[in-house]
Amino acid sequence: MDSVRSHLNEYVTALGRSPVRDLFEISLDPALISFAGGNPAPELFDVDGLAAAFSAVMATEGGRAMQYSSTDGEPEMREAAAKRTTEMGVPTSPDQLIITSGSQQGLGLLSQTLINPGDVVLAENPSFVSALQAFGLQGAEFKPVDTDEAGVIPEALESAIEKWHPKAVYLIPTFQNPTGITMSAERRRQVADILAASDTWLIEDDPYSELRFTEEQQIPISADQRLDDRAFLCNTLSKVLSPGLRVGWVRGPAHVLERMSAAKQANSLQTSTIDQLAAAYYLAHNDLQAKLDGVRAEYRARRDAMLEGLREGLPEGSAMTEPEGGMFVWARLPEGHDASALVYDAIRAGVVFVPGAPFYIAEPDPRTLRFSFVSNDPEHTREGLSRLGSVFDRG
Ligand code: PMP
Repeated sequence: MDSVRSHLNEYVTALGRSPVRDLFEISLDPALISFAGGNPAPELFDVDGLAAAFSAVMATEGGRAMQYSSTDGEPEMREAAAKRTTEMGVPTSPDQLIITSGSQQGLGLLSQTLINPGDVVLAENPSFVSALQAFGLQGAEFKPVDTDEAGVIPEALESAIEKWHPKAVYLIPTFQNPTGITMSAERRRQVADILAASDTWLIEDDPYSELRFTEEQQIPISADQRLDDRAFLCNTLSKVLSPGLRVGWVRGPAHVLERMSAAKQANSLQTSTIDQLAAAYYLAHNDLQAKLDGVRAEYRARRDAMLEGLREGLPEGSAMTEPEGGMFVWARLPEGHDASALVYDAIRAGVVFVPGAPFYIAEPDPRTLRFSFVSNDPEHTREGLSRLGSVFDRG
């Protein structure tokens, strides 16, 4: 007999869980060394600076900060977001973006605004699990685009567009999650050429580009003005300031932002007023770039410790990426290993990573796994990898 228990939305029923978030609870255990989450290092948060920003806002504009506010975002935060996007190489005015509760909400709203059930979305394979969830919830079908060490392969993108007639292409061109790979400038130009000649939306997700360890600044694909009528650039303060703030934004064509704003009204009314005002105050009164210099230096040392440890600790015949920024290293174990099975042995040994399989759009590679290198100082990274060594020896 049909039971009320099964009366759920079909896309929610089919939705996979994010192993990253499911492992989050486990990784709170202080005895465990976690390489699992994309969590910025909490000891590097500017807690004092943020506390001062919250206090100043409450002292001068407490009533406003505690009140409902606009769906599209407070003027100060839109101004700050436009300035940051412009500094990243994409000239932007405040009316070209809306504020979102983190870039995850941006992805969810874009999905609701652009996608009908059955629409095809192209993405790098593997890709960010929670983006797959956001678009999957709307009934999107993902198709993979082949990539190499310089990101999406232009010919593969061209033929995938021809074959699948996708509604949108979702890309994380800089320090990709989960692989850490960055698309070269040449590739970005080629991808822009292809998209400009297509009738496909571009959804460009760029949370990591400021966490770079070299001088070379990668300019988002959305900077190409030919894409102004079809490109959405998602950004966030999560990785550079604090993910607890839940402040991000989406830059895109005005007529679509207007519809996204209607979707946001239905979804959550608005982004937290106090968080926006405090974030905007912080950005206006602090030199974030100077503070980020310290964060980048520390993350770089942590990346080095991770790569060194993995070179020694991964079983003979493994491969891994060597990212120039961001948070993640992606590794592939030799033939015969299954990272999803090993994760439980790893947890018993006091260390946790994320198996690669859930990040895949097409056939998963069970030998892959993702390591976040930012959450632990070099000493803990070495200790965690030595615990993992015993697991690999057994595996
Ligand atoms: N996009 C990517 C590629 C991410 O890795 C993340 C966070 N892990 C997000 C979006 C979401 O970040 P937030 O909602 O905190 O801005």
